[in-house]
Amino acid sequence: MRLAQKMSRLGTETAFEVLARAKQLEKEGKEIIHLEIGEPDFDTPRNITEAAIKALKEGYTHYTPSAGLPEVREVIAKYISDTRKIKVDPDEVVVTPGAKPIMFFSILALVNEGDEVIYPNPGFPIYESVIDFIGGKSVPIKLREENQFRLDLDELKKLVTPKTKMIIINSPQNPTGGILTLEDLKAIAEIAIKNDIYVLSDEIYSRIIYEGEHHSIASLPDMKERTIILDGLSKTYAMTGWRVGYGVMNKTLAPHIARLMTNSNSCTASFTQRALIEALTGPQDEPQKMDAEFKKRRDVIVKGLNEIPRFSCLLPKGAFYVFPNVKKTGWESKKLADTLLNEAGVAVLSGTSFGKYGEGYLRISYANSVENINKGLERMKEFLAKL
Ligand code: PMP
Repeated sequence: MRLAQKMSRLGTETAFEVLARAKQLEKEGKEIIHLEIGEPDFDTPRNITEAAIKALKEGYTHYTPSAGLPEVREVIAKYISDTRKIKVDPDEVVVTPGAKPIMFFSILALVNEGDEVIYPNPGFPIYESVIDFIGGKSVPIKLREENQFRLDLDELKKLVTPKTKMIIINSPQNPTGGILTLEDLKAIAEIAIKNDIYVLSDEIYSRIIYEGEHHSIASLPDMKERTIILDGLSKTYAMTGWRVGYGVMNKTLAPHIARLMTNSNSCTASFTQRALIEALTGPQDEPQKMDAEFKKRRDVIVKGLNEIPRFSCLLPKGAFYVFPNVKKTGWESKKLADTLLNEAGVAVLSGTSFGKYGEGYLRISYANSVENINKGLERMKEFLAKL
């Protein structure tokens, strides 16, 4: 096999590999507690599923414009205008199959070979993967536990060079559950404006927040033009398998992102786009119930983890992940995660699945029932007691 060289620079998302290994163990008869994958365990709200079925029956089974159906772009523009308190036009919206393509496309469209992109580490692994893949220079900014996993603004200033083209931020954050404060965002905006840098703002967890409210950097003065908001339905409405997300960006950039859509997917599935209208404009009690449930689970898991000797865990403010510190066990994170899966039957991820600065941590998703979370905690506790 003579793969293109750049394939050696393409990373992956370990969660899918761990999930496959866990499924294999289940096939062999083991009972596994799944705390590895980042997806809500709830069903998609019924009204949204019904809207998709209705759309299918009405014939939404064909291509749509690459940037999305006009009425769908309109709904998203209104939703972002209302929630971010900025004025967004439908031609500033591109609908994509899940939110992930917005990462790929915005980096592809804006970053030249050799350009630098600053991204959070630990952070969602696809940022680094795509930056390296397209020949950009990935510049990690370390998120520290003692800073509640917010980025250090002085460090950010030091990392900026004339080659910095983009800064990626993600709040609430995967894998740490940390959030950036309004003051953080203001400081990042100042740096971006001063140095003419684009900001990719991954806001996929903006609705899963337990304290305070979500702030978007795009809402700050002079930031809308240089920000790409990434958002979608996967997490808020338990719709990971539907593949519907979107990017909001300035009018000049949007047609280029749409052209990348034409070259790759043609368009997002038309009936899932129609379902988005119901998701964003229909009743919101189901996602609110999910959030209340996540909060309950967060409290259970944080308390439980802090009761495990040699583990310690901050209380995350958003998303549905915890990032416990396991340094006192003396184990490397990857080895600990592998052993917990193989010997204790608990699937969690190594902090290093989110970059080198994730060493010393595990990432645990609490998108699972309280019963399963308690079982997982019990198993981890028992396993560690034997060491
Ligand atoms: N950003 C972050 C930080 C995520 O954790 C995820 C999903 N794990 C995504 C984006 C992608 O979401 P989607 O499934 O809509 O592509």
